[in-house]
Amino acid sequence: MRTVHVIGAGFAGLTVSLRLAQKGFQVELYETAHRVGGLLGTDQTEYGIAERAANALIRTEKSEELFKELGVPVSLPLESSKKRFLFRGSPKTWPLSLFETLATLARVLPQVFLRGKKGFKPQAGETLQTWGERHLGKAPTRFILGPAMQGIYGNEITDLSASLILGPIFSRTKKGKYQGLLTGPGGMQDLVNHLEQRLRELGVNIHLNTNIKLENLQGPVVVATSAKAAAELTKVRYPSVAQVLSRIQMSSLMSVTLFFAKAQDKFKGFGCLIPRGFDLKALGVLMNSYIFKDRDKTYNETWILGGAKEEKLLDLSDADLLKLIAEERLRILGQKDSLLDYRINRWKNALPYYNVQLEESLADLDQVQLPQDLHLHGNYLSGIGLSKILERSDLIAEKIASQHE
Ligand SMILES: Cc1cc2nc3c(=O)[nH]c(=O)nc-3n(C[C@H](O)[C@H](O)[C@H](O)COP(=O)(O)OP(=O)(O)OC[C@H]3O[C@@H](n4cnc5c(N)ncnc54)[C@H](O)[C@@H]3O)c2cc1C
Repeated sequence: MRTVHVIGAGFAGLTVSLRLAQKGFQVELYETAHRVGGLLGTDQTEYGIAERAANALIRTEKSEELFKELGVPVSLPLESSKKRFLFRGSPKTWPLSLFETLATLARVLPQVFLRGKKGFKPQAGETLQTWGERHLGKAPTRFILGPAMQGIYGNEITDLSASLILGPIFSRTKKGKYQGLLTGPGGMQDLVNHLEQRLRELGVNIHLNTNIKLENLQGPVVVATSAKAAAELTKVRYPSVAQVLSRIQMSSLMSVTLFFAKAQDKFKGFGCLIPRGFDLKALGVLMNSYIFKDRDKTYNETWILGGAKEEKLLDLSDADLLKLIAEERLRILGQKDSLLDYRINRWKNALPYYNVQLEESLADLDQVQLPQDLHLHGNYLSGIGLSKILERSDLIAEKIASQHE
């Protein structure tokens, strides 16, 4: 049986290991930490659960199939989660004035009629801000596009790459319908536990607390770590690859889950995204109790803060951070409630910065001929979200299988 080595047991490493083991490979999975899951994980508290990073996957055919084959009971979002707020002085479901809305339509509709989807295709090296102002205008860029993208990529659209983020929409052949989100009843840890269990059943050897060296491995290797760790791992055997990877910038993000004695019921929805320019640090708030059912004992919210320009926030003490969020919560939601408990996750340099420099680095990576036995995987390559990572796991497993038939 052919052996494949997978380095990194985050969602990328776990799912590519699953697909490889299902294709009959002997998989050796190496992880530096004491547990698998990487960024994914769920803390249990006496008031309910707190996600450490992702709270769900986008519901696609592949993600649904993954839950089904692993036997993870599916927890779908509540009806209330369909409502989403954007902050403009207060949370609004539509943040543009009538005049701004008409001006946006007058700008967008002729482009749609004249050139269709391709008229909106981003240019190489263009930031999301430039793309948005060119196609949509200033107000929708600032109050809709900006906060929405910050909420996903954890950084301001002044630096985010339009090609990397919007490009896939233009290269997609099949129309994928957005069908909401998917998680387990016990949160993302349910999925991680099922993945780990299935890998062990399939005979995958999971080596925890291990610092493996790539140069000591024979045969196909999948490096499924952050770009930073991948640069370190490849530097001896594949210096030209490492050189490109080392230029990829990482950014930091923080999730703060707050459990309250009393539910806020003024704004019932998925959450509220916050544009820059209001002197607020928070990027957004998820109203967990209005997203998922039956898993909280008390109302709770998750606040997201950070980004490349606000790295210093991660150095605040718990007390200072809670004070800052309490002040911003009062300004954003008009709420001042007593706190029962909280969980803070500081993810330092944990996420790729989807900026124009990443676009350049990925283009350079395409130019470096990757050795046949080296496969790169992770959230800096084809998308930051879990459903994109899952798609890449399938592709990598198929490629390795076709090379070793
Ligand atoms: C606050 C937050 C909220 C998010 N929300 C969502 C969401 O709602 N939906 C969504 O789809 N995505 C979300 N994401 C993004 C998503 O969680 C991540 O992109 C994804 O989990 C990354 O998985 P990964 O396997 O690529 O990387 P990681 O999870 O970082 O895993 C990499 C693994 O490699 C290990 N490793 C590193 N170096 C080595 C080495 N030398 N040897 C062996 N192992 C090594 C690490 O310990 C780690 O376990 C969120 C992220 C954050 C931070």
